[in-house]
Amino acid sequence: MKVMAQIAMVMNLDKCIGCHTCSVTCKQAWTNREGTEYMWFNNVETRPGVGYPRRWEDQVENKGGWVHKANGKLVPRQGGRLKGLANIFANPNLPEMSDYYEPWTYEYEKLLSAPKDSSALPVARPKSQMTGEHINAPEWGPNWDDDLGGSLETMQDDPVIAASGAEVKAQIENAFMFYLPRICEHCLNPTCVSVCPSGAMYKRSEDGIVLVDEDKCRGWRMCVSGCPYKKVYFNHTTGKAEKCTLCYPRLEIGEPTVCSETCVGRLRYLGVLLYDADRVGEAAATERDEDLYEAQRQILLDPRDPEVIEGALAEGVPRSYIEAAQESPIYKLIHEYQVALPLHPEYRTLPMVWYVPPLSPIVDEVTASGNDGEDGKILLTAISRMRIPLEYLASLLAGGNLAVTEKTLRRLAAMRSYMRDIHLGGEGNEEIAAAVGMTGEEIEAMYRLLAIAKYEDRYVIPNAHPEIERSLDDFRCSLDGTGGVGMGGPGFSGNKVMVELLPRRPGGTSV
Ligand code: SF4
Ligand code: SF4
Repeated sequence: MKVMAQIAMVMNLDKCIGCHTCSVTCKQAWTNREGTEYMWFNNVETRPGVGYPRRWEDQVENKGGWVHKANGKLVPRQGGRLKGLANIFANPNLPEMSDYYEPWTYEYEKLLSAPKDSSALPVARPKSQMTGEHINAPEWGPNWDDDLGGSLETMQDDPVIAASGAEVKAQIENAFMFYLPRICEHCLNPTCVSVCPSGAMYKRSEDGIVLVDEDKCRGWRMCVSGCPYKKVYFNHTTGKAEKCTLCYPRLEIGEPTVCSETCVGRLRYLGVLLYDADRVGEAAATERDEDLYEAQRQILLDPRDPEVIEGALAEGVPRSYIEAAQESPIYKLIHEYQVALPLHPEYRTLPMVWYVPPLSPIVDEVTASGNDGEDGKILLTAISRMRIPLEYLASLLAGGNLAVTEKTLRRLAAMRSYMRDIHLGGEGNEEIAAAVGMTGEEIEAMYRLLAIAKYEDRYVIPNAHPEIERSLDDFRCSLDGTGGVGMGGPGFSGNKVMVELLPRRPGGTSV
């Protein structure tokens, strides 16, 4: 057992109001520079929808993540580093600018400098931030589905719907929707690191944050295509890859990420997980997609187990990390209450941003029949008839595992019903808690964390430690070593090479 620490996030989708504050504050902090106009390290998608970049979940086209071979081995879907080297001048798997959008601004100065006595109404025309030319009418943007909410215009292009059954497709007519905020997953088994030919991508050994070493990056963009979540971006001005840093300078002084700090819905949680690094490969190579959720949960270690504490100390994990792991809201939501699920575990990168799935109204016929939709018995039996189809959520968050998704939603529904009785002046009904394998006490603790947790309960972050040696020459990737996917060493490239990559489709524009 090799105990390592990872800073992870959980987002409670039931509370996301789609305000995009997280995206805007992240952009102000990190990507408000030339060359980064189209980048959104944090974006919020309307689901169903095609997301940003468009159809990022279509791995047949995008070739992101890992493929499980018949011999049980995992290989990057786009091929390994050698194949990457062969393709450095023409990576065929890159998204195009139109898959993201052409960033634009408006001619605000025309509004500010318009003469007061002019009879013509001043207008601020949109202008491309790529070419400086006027754009007649923007046709796509990073949250375009938001503006189309409820229409069928793009929903049928949603890869998750395409993979779902006929019943889900038919239910689109009911216009179910919810918001999905996304950042880099800071995966335990990241393809972006494994496919980088120059060894520029690395996973920090002390807290698992995945970063780009800008000095080593040669702009080959294998990481862009290798990441199945499309969370590495190419800066067309500097010729380097860029990505979410999990706001590590803030975490190092004990502060949460900007997106968490400013989240209006207070739905983000940050904390430490301890995991067994020796079992990462085995978990990622679990045969069936449906079993990946459980395999991933099983490599998380109990931070109160004396053997785990001893192992962590032996690996140099500071005591404050262990103490933070013992109070971690992430461990509670994923492992103790089991109400958080990983985004697309079937990509096999072992993502470290998990989601509490949203409850939704029960379809009309249940409530129309005169039943109380909040009644525990009705709620628990009607999960499969909620407006957001179970199958859709299972495809998004559980590798298609309906049973796991239903169990998660049943726990959330039980919490809602149990707490309603208390808020109406009654007593919590232990039968409701027992029906989902919990006690009333556990349900109340889960409610406190999910509904009314204070700042210090949502973000349990250990300060960086001066005793962890980290000089600029001594960055260590936690994935280096036998069997690891990290590169280690200087990588294949020696020179600074800026390459112009070809567009994927004829007539397309490269990013
Ligand atoms: S989500 Fe982040 S860590 Fe995972 S493969 Fe993509 S860029 Fe790498
Ligand atoms: S700030 Fe919070 S509530 Fe608003 S869109 Fe982002 S995650 Fe959702």
